[in-house]
Formats: sequence, structure tokens, C-alpha cells
Amino acid sequence: MNTISTIYSRQFLRLGLTLLAMLALSACSSSIAPRTGPDNSNITAESFNPARIKADMTFLADDTLEGRETGSRGYRVAANYVAAEFARLGLKPKGENGFFQEVPFQTAQLNQDTASMIVRSQGHETSLTLGDDFYMGGSVKKPSGSASGQVVFLGYGIYAPKLGHDDLKGMDLEGKIALIISGAPEGFQTEIRAHHGSTSTKLKELLKRGIAGLISVNSPAMEKRRPFKRLKRFLGRKRFDWVMPEDVGVADPMVGASAAISRDVALKLFEGASTSFSEAVASTSAGKFASMALLSDVQMKRDSILSDRISSPNVIAVLEGSDPTLKDEYVVISAHLDHIGITEHAKGNDKINNGALDNAAGVSVMLEVARAYVQANHKPRRSILFAAVTAEEKGLLGAEYFARFPTVEKSSMVANVNLDMPVLLYDFTDVVAFGADRSSLGAVTEKAVGKIGLGLSPDPMPQEGIFTRSDHYRFVQQGIPAVFLVTGWGKTEDGEDGGKIFMQFLGKTYHTPQDQLDLPINYQAGAKFAYVNWLITSAIANEDARPSWNEGDFFGDTFAGQ
Ligand SMILES: [Zn+2]
Repeated sequence: MNTISTIYSRQFLRLGLTLLAMLALSACSSSIAPRTGPDNSNITAESFNPARIKADMTFLADDTLEGRETGSRGYRVAANYVAAEFARLGLKPKGENGFFQEVPFQTAQLNQDTASMIVRSQGHETSLTLGDDFYMGGSVKKPSGSASGQVVFLGYGIYAPKLGHDDLKGMDLEGKIALIISGAPEGFQTEIRAHHGSTSTKLKELLKRGIAGLISVNSPAMEKRRPFKRLKRFLGRKRFDWVMPEDVGVADPMVGASAAISRDVALKLFEGASTSFSEAVASTSAGKFASMALLSDVQMKRDSILSDRISSPNVIAVLEGSDPTLKDEYVVISAHLDHIGITEHAKGNDKINNGALDNAAGVSVMLEVARAYVQANHKPRRSILFAAVTAEEKGLLGAEYFARFPTVEKSSMVANVNLDMPVLLYDFTDVVAFGADRSSLGAVTEKAVGKIGLGLSPDPMPQEGIFTRSDHYRFVQQGIPAVFLVTGWGKTEDGEDGGKIFMQFLGKTYHTPQDQLDLPINYQAGAKFAYVNWLITSAIANEDARPSWNEGDFFGDTFAGQ
């Protein structure tokens, strides 16, 4: 016993000395150690492996997954794949059922036999014709509804006092039918315009004022782009939406009924008014206050035909942070896993929309970010929450469901880094960071991008309002700062025109069966993209302070503190 213990203690001593020597050595040589990344962790560009990104994309964009449509078998297989990879990496499940947060969905189709709209003006009663005079859709959240009352014209129907615009000023709206023009003033900045131009933003305020129903009519610009008469062919359309969870208690306020109307019907509603419809539209377009009560009444109602419920999961995992306090806060890195499925009327034989770049690429980059952490055994101070979300293509629905009913405390989500359709067709030298300049994430992003010599370029297409068009916006609507990176439009490493390749993809390949694996995908660019997103995510996770909106930022002011 004794001898043995002596031998052991000698060995331990020797081992201890060796370790000490090694520590001393490594302390001396750390300044020339090649395996230290720019943020002083052991993660470097080599930690991100293009072959692994290729392997994930090859699985997720295969024909057998049939385009990963929300609720489909192919999507379920993709979700299982992501969950299996999360499990293999040893990440903690953070769904409601293991890694899965099942999202309940339903479709609603207008029951055309029940849709009616009657206008009373100047003592005449007119029954309108569905499709020709008015358009209605079905609704999952309010399958049946009706509304009747006096019509009040409200210009765009926008309440934005901070922007000096208030179409509702002094108007009595209780029990009234609001008639509004679609869209928002030209003068509004693109993203603000997208927010205020959306019917849901307008409705939120109008419902507070007690309106019973909503009618909208195209602005002249919208009528040129998407004429009212084209809506008719969407009458049979099934509207896809998530179903309010039963335990939420209070449902969202909903309007009794709503419809879009033709210009002719709008003219009728203005009969007997002191101003003509054309004059009212002209004033509205010129940014003037044109709201007025009209002398007509409307009565409308409709029912929906609901589908059975289907379930499609968000896949959620957590890498726990190292800081005893900060680990209870989460940086959410998200990528949508769904795509648009099969197009029966596609030209040619290939009908499967594989969504290789949209968004098998984003999910694969997200998985590579997770692998880099795990393989280097590196833990940032805050926890990282990985979310592969469903139903982005149906209207950012999976992300909306998660952001509204998160599986962690809502206030503990400090930021969202979103990955959607990185165009990995060229070796980019710059990136665009949508939303970054609205919060402290701007400085973090700039620093992270600069560390590996990439350029940070301004939004090359501000007219598109990209910031409101992908999953990160659902987090923004819950007051959470977000950043969304895309590959930049500058000259590529090979001297090509990045912007040209990007636009070509957007114009020809986006949302077609040709977004598939035979594209000239640059997986090395995928690894670089994972690296830069990893740097940003880690920087957010390691900062002392949680991210904050910039003073006076429109989205911060609108949504923070909700
Ligand atoms: Zn898409």
C-alpha cells in the first residue's frame, strides 16, 4: 500500500512539474501561438469547415425532402435532422417537447356563399358583388365576423404623431367602418413606411379607437402595380396562420370584418360628401389631413372554412453560457428551416423547390456556428439559443410564434442574429448588416466584421425594406434588437461583381426549383459567413451590457418595453 502510494505521489509530482513547465512555456509563447482567433478564443477561420456546411446543405436541399414546406413530411424530416445534430453536439433541448416547439397551424378559406357587403347611401341600398366590387379573405383567428356602421374616410389611416402624421386626429371612430387608402406616404423612410403601411399596424390603433369594420382601397400607385380586379383570382385562397395557444387567455383584438373595395365602390361611398373621392385621395397623397365622416353606411359579413389543424415545429437548442449571472440571458441565432415545397404548375419537369440557398444555407451556417463552439469547447458568457424556425415562407409565422411565446423568459432574449438566404455563390469581401445601425449591435457588428478584414456596406436596396421582411423582424416587434447579415455587393475575392451575382440569383433563381444544389455554391464562402456570424454572436454574448436600441430609434421607440 505504502509503496504504491509513494509511487503514485511521485508520479503526481512529476506530472505536476511537467504541467507547470508546459504552462510556463505556453505563457511565453502565447503571443506567437497560431491557434488564437481575433477575439482571443481558440476559434479561428479554420474552425469553420466548408465540407460540413456542404454535407448539411446536401441533406436539407435533397429532393427527398420535397421542398420542406411547413407541415409537410419533408419539413418534419428536416426538423429531425437538425434536432439530431443539436443532440449530437450536446446542446440542451429548449423546445417544449425536447428540441421541438410544435406550432399549431390552420388554413382559412373564405366561404364565398356567406360573403356579403351592402352599401346604403343617398337613400339607396346596393348589394355588392364579391370579386368585382369587393374582396374578402378567410381568417384563422376570426373565422366568422360581421360589421355595420357609418363609413369614415381616414386617408392612409396612420397614427404616427412622432412623424408629424395623424390621420385619426379628432375623429370619432367608435362603432364606425374605417375607409382607408393602402400604403403609407412616399416621404416616409422605407422601413418606417413598411411598418406604418401595413394593415396590421393600422388596425392595432384603429381597434383601440373602437372601429367595427375596415375597408381599404388601393392608392393610385398600388392600383397601377396590383390592380384591384386581380384580387378576384385569390378568392379561393387558403390563408395560413398559427392558432392562438389555449393557455394564453386573452386573444388579440380583432376587427369584426374587413374588405378591399374597387375604386367604383369608393366613389359610391363618397356620394353626397363635401369632397369627392379623387380630391380626398389627392390630398392624402400630398400628405394633407383629409379624414372626414361620410354620408354612407356599410354592412358586411363573412364566414371561413377552416382546415384541420396541422403541427410544424420550431427546433430549439441552447449552448449554456459560462457566466453565472449572464448565462440566464440569451442571444438568439435563428434561421428558417422551411421552404415553399412543390410547385405543381412549374415549367419543366423539376417541380421541387429545394431551397438550397433559401434557406438550407442559413440553417447549415447556423449549425456550423454551433459546432465551432462545441468543438473548441468554448463557452461565451451569455447563453446562445439556436432556433431553426418554421413557416417563414408563410409570413414569418414560426419566428412570430416563438418570439411571442418563447421557451425562455421573453425579457431574457437580449438580441437576435438572423440567417436567411445567404447568397453563397461568390467569395464575398463585404457584408450588409440590416438593422445593425438601429442599436448598439451596430458597433459590435462593425468591430466583428473588421476583425477578419471584411467590409461593412450600406443597404444596397433600401427601397426593398428588407429589415421588415425576414424572421428577425418578429423579434424586433417584441422589442429585441436584431441584426441580419447578407453577403455584400462589392468586388469578390476573384474580382467578380458580387452585386451582379446576387441580383441574378434574386431575379432568376429565387423561389424556383433552380435554387438547388447544382448551383455553383461556394462552400468556402459559407464557412466565412459562419465565422463572421459567430464573431458577432460571441461579441454580443460576451459584452458586459446587454444590447440597447439607439436613443430615438423608430423601432426601439415603437416596440421596446412591450
Ligand atoms: Zn424564401
